[in-house]
Amino acid sequence: MKTRLTCPCGTTVTGADEDELVARTQEHLAQEHPGMEYDREQILFIAT
Ligand SMILES: [Zn+2]
Repeated sequence: MKTRLTCPCGTTVTGADEDELVARTQEHLAQEHPGMEYDREQILFIAT
């Protein structure tokens, strides 16, 4: 299961599971990178 993702800005986003990781990544994007949107599939593709 993927629970960690490093954003291109250097921020590491982690979640307890994939659902949380996706939610927290979308939250980070909304706050730090307005206009950048990724769907679940794209987020999990770059997650580790
Ligand atoms: Zn970022």
